[in-house]
Amino acid sequence: MSNDSADKSGTDLPRIGRLLDAFEGHGIDALLVASPTNRRYLSGFTGSSANLLIAGERKLLITDGRYSTQAAAQAADYECVIHKGPLLDQVAASALELGATSLGFDPKLTTVAEFEALSMSLKPNCELVAVSGLIESLRLRKDEAEMDALRRAIAIGDAVMGAAEKAILPGAREIDVATTIEQEFRLAGASGPSFPVIVASGRNAAMPHHSPSDKAIEEGDSVVVDMGAMLDGYCSDMTRTFCAGEPTPTFEEIYGVVLEAQKAAINGVRDGLKAMDCDGLARGVITSAGYGDNFGHGTGHGVGLDIHEAPRVSSTSDDVLCVGMVHSVEPGIYLPDWGGVRIEDLVLVTENGSEILSQYPK
Ligand code: ZN
Ligand code: ZN
Repeated sequence: MSNDSADKSGTDLPRIGRLLDAFEGHGIDALLVASPTNRRYLSGFTGSSANLLIAGERKLLITDGRYSTQAAAQAADYECVIHKGPLLDQVAASALELGATSLGFDPKLTTVAEFEALSMSLKPNCELVAVSGLIESLRLRKDEAEMDALRRAIAIGDAVMGAAEKAILPGAREIDVATTIEQEFRLAGASGPSFPVIVASGRNAAMPHHSPSDKAIEEGDSVVVDMGAMLDGYCSDMTRTFCAGEPTPTFEEIYGVVLEAQKAAINGVRDGLKAMDCDGLARGVITSAGYGDNFGHGTGHGVGLDIHEAPRVSSTSDDVLCVGMVHSVEPGIYLPDWGGVRIEDLVLVTENGSEILSQYPK
């Protein structure tokens, strides 16, 4: 039951305080929060339909009648406004009532039609101001409550990877292993997987995002298992690659290179490191071994309420790693005629470097 209950720590004042501090720099006196993860981060509300409207001391949660009880329970420090007509009509009415003159909105989540309708409703007293990534930037550094949820989600991932490894036997199908993982997540208290489970064997493992199929795992196949649990809204994410039966020489060679690449990147993680340089540490090892062209994705991504969030750890990223960030380190080598190996752990950037959060052996 805890999975859908409110994380009351999500309503702590520092988050709102930091948000309000950022208003001036963006030239806004109110903010519309439409993203489900952002509204959960700020208010604790987990319902599927709502907007937050934040203007100084006033914090409104605008939702429909289905959620009045849930809103009161999960977001007690928000004034709950129940809309009967279109949600955005109520947003406009409430923004004007709050005296907003410049309302921030996320252009990535707002359609042109919504923008135009909202803009018309607010004229002439309030203008819309495009503000991207404001709350996402607050979410970059995880606070204590978030780390607690992440650590619990990661612990479930560690436990369930053990069940997955046991299920990888010649003759078992990829889909059987994936089903075991999904079932074990539920039994361990997760609300479910944090993204569709990946079980890829043999040549299928050459595709980083292969969907589990009815292919039977064969002796000597490399088997990539990439999965994460969702708990209290937070995601875990871990990849291990196993060899079905006795490890083959190719498996051992490729695995060794990927593991060395992953260790190089993890050992380099520290406050102030450019994310592209973290990527370079892993990529350098793989390139030196002659497999640079077979590592076709970035080294990692941030993880939190979303399975993919900032920072982006890739060769083209402008992000810089900072204390409190949680991101994956997941280099891989993919050979179309053979299969693939990827190894992924989540790390927390600390004052002294990093802490590896996932514990499953590799
Ligand atoms: Zn993953
Ligand atoms: Zn990942």
